[in-house]
Amino acid sequence: MKGLRVLFSIALVAAIIFVGIYWLRHRPQQIPTPFVTQGRLQIYALDVGQGDSALIITPEGKSVLIDAGPPQAGDEVVAALRKKDVRSLDLAVTTHPHADHIGGMRPVIENFGVKNFLDSGQVYASKEYERMLRAIHEKGIKFIEAKNGMKFDLDSGVKLEVLNPQGAGQWITEVRRGGSVENANSIVLRLSYGNFSMLFTGDAETETEDLMMKSGAPLRAQVLKVGHHGSRYATSARFLDAVAPEAAVISCGADNRYGHPARQTLDRLRKAGVKVYRTDLNGEIAIVADGNTFEIHPDKQPIQVALLSGVRGQVPGVRGQGPGVRGQGSGVRY
Ligand SMILES: [Zn+2]
Repeated sequence: MKGLRVLFSIALVAAIIFVGIYWLRHRPQQIPTPFVTQGRLQIYALDVGQGDSALIITPEGKSVLIDAGPPQAGDEVVAALRKKDVRSLDLAVTTHPHADHIGGMRPVIENFGVKNFLDSGQVYASKEYERMLRAIHEKGIKFIEAKNGMKFDLDSGVKLEVLNPQGAGQWITEVRRGGSVENANSIVLRLSYGNFSMLFTGDAETETEDLMMKSGAPLRAQVLKVGHHGSRYATSARFLDAVAPEAAVISCGADNRYGHPARQTLDRLRKAGVKVYRTDLNGEIAIVADGNTFEIHPDKQPIQVALLSGVRGQVPGVRGQGPGVRGQGSGVRY
C-alpha cells in the first residue's frame, strides 16, 4: 500500500512537471492586435537592433524614412518597407553620418526610388558614408542639407519641420568629454498632423537640446523618439519639461554594449510620467494618428515591460487612458 502511494506521488509530480513544460512551450503567444491604418498617419519605429530607423506614411500614402539602421539591418529595412507597400520614398533622411543610422541606406536607395534626400551636411570621412553619398549622386536624387526652420509639407496637412542643425555654418563644436560632435549636430525633426506631433531627435546630445531650447524651437510633442538610443547624455529633465511628451520610443538593440538605454534616462522618463516603448523589448512599434488622437501598437508586449512600467492588464492595441498620460484634453488612446 505504501509502495503504491509513493508510486502515485512520483507519477503526480511527473505529470505536473510534464504539464508545466508543455504549457511553457505551448502557452498562447501574444498576437499583435490589428489596427486601422487607412487614412491615418502611420509611424513605425523599425526593429533594427542597435541603431535607428523610423518610417512615416502619410494618410495619402507619402513616405519618409528617417535613418536606416546599421549595415546588417539593410535587408530588414528593405523588407519592412515592402511589407508596408512602400514603393518609393518621397524623402529619406540621415540624421547624422554614423553607421548605426546610415548603414542600411544604400540598399534602400538601390531598391526604392528616392525623390529627396535630407542630410545633416556634416563632413565625415567613412567608407560607408562616402558610398552612400555616391549612390545618392549616381541615382540623381535631390540632395538637401538640413537647416533649422526648413519645412516639408507632405500631404493632408502633415508637416515635417527641421529644428536642428542651425545652418549657416553654425555647428555645435564643443561637446562633453567623450561626446560626439556628429551626434550633437544630428538633424532633429518635428512631425505634426492636426493636434498630433512627434519629435525625432537622432542622436542629439544635451548640448543640442539646450541649443534648441535657447533658440525657441517648437519642441512640444506628444511622442518623443528618445535621443541617442536612451543614452544618459541626452533627454535631460529640462528637455523633457520642454517637450512634455506623453509617450516615448527608444530604439536600441537587446544587450547592446553601450548599456542603452541608461537607467538614468529611464528614471527621468518615469519621473516625467512618460510611457516608454523600446524596440529591444517591444520589437517594431507602430504609432497611428488621425490628427486628434493617437494609438501605439507595439509588435510584442513582454511581461517585464508590463511589470516595470506598472501597467496592469494592459494589452497592445487596447484603447483607453494609459497610465502616466498627461494632457487629458488631447484624448490620447492606447
Ligand atoms: Zn546612434
